[in-house]
Amino acid sequence: MKKHNFSAGPCILPQEVFEKSAQAVLNFNNSGLSILEISHRSKGFMAVMEEARTLALDLLGLQGKGYTALFLQGGASMEFLRTPYNLMKVNGKAAYLDTGTWASSALKEAKNFGETLIVASSKDENYAYIPKNYSVPADADYFHCTSNNTIFGTQLKEFPVLKIPMVCDMSSDIFSRTLDFSKFDLIYAGAQKNMGPSGTTLVVVKDAILGKTGRTIPNILNYQQHIEKESMYNTPAVFAVYTSLLTLQWLKNLGGITEIEKINESKAHLIYSEIDRNPLFKGTAHQADRSCMNATFLLNDVAHAPLFDSLWKEAGIEGISGHRSVGGYRASIYNAMPIESVKVLVDVMKEMENRV
Ligand SMILES: *Cc1c(COP(=O)(O)O)cnc(C)c1O
Repeated sequence: MKKHNFSAGPCILPQEVFEKSAQAVLNFNNSGLSILEISHRSKGFMAVMEEARTLALDLLGLQGKGYTALFLQGGASMEFLRTPYNLMKVNGKAAYLDTGTWASSALKEAKNFGETLIVASSKDENYAYIPKNYSVPADADYFHCTSNNTIFGTQLKEFPVLKIPMVCDMSSDIFSRTLDFSKFDLIYAGAQKNMGPSGTTLVVVKDAILGKTGRTIPNILNYQQHIEKESMYNTPAVFAVYTSLLTLQWLKNLGGITEIEKINESKAHLIYSEIDRNPLFKGTAHQADRSCMNATFLLNDVAHAPLFDSLWKEAGIEGISGHRSVGGYRASIYNAMPIESVKVLVDVMKEMENRV
């Protein structure tokens, strides 16, 4: 039986994506070849790459606005490094918003390139909230933020309006909610949270911000190289890009981001209402900053953990143990998570009240 998979990533994908990608492993587009054995320069795969890049921009509403979409490798962690390499001037500086583990990992990489400034941090409360009312220096080369903090279950609801380039790590909430994506100059997202299997990272970059650093950038790390080579500078992650395309097609057929956002809001409402109603549980993130993708919560009495753990396992639930830096539980409810699975979890939480 298929489990209710609340894993934070790699994570659930739409069932039809699993089926279509499995089919392509056996016979890709009736070519008599597996997607795993075709050349990345074959007509079939070139069309996949082209469509995936176009569809990503379409879904974000960025088509024709001076942006390029790339499917690169090295995970979001590689973009922590590529960002300063491509955007921080020699003797320049960059501004970072510190909202969690991933945000501070991004900052650490930038420190190797020049001066960095933390505009605000929520480390004082173990990242349970999003700092507000910070100011970003106008002379920084760029501002970096993390739209959704996968580990701590918080999400930025507002973004600053800036004259300098804004870079955003959207790994765990890309394509999940409507935003004016043209406010951002560089967006990156590891595929394995809301788009596909691990192995590729979507990078959406405004072409005009590149080429201004005065640095010599190694080709593999240079966004301009990847743009010129149409995301084929080196062998792309063929299967991961194909599977990401299937997910993007699924999302488009569903009605795009505006439709999935409504579904995501009802899933989040369902789980958070139960966390707030049920006297046995409490949420870890400030209510105003709660993530619609990763709901983090604790049992008020840890003595109830063995019972709760046995109940959710019996219900076929997988992957809700919290990250070690928060403890407790984390229910990741990404785009592909059906509301029925969230109901199963909520029922288990309700059942706990009858049992203790
Ligand atoms: C998972 C995650 C990362 C790390 O991604 P990798 O692909 O493993 O490098 C970075 N940022 C955020 C917000 C994440 O959720």
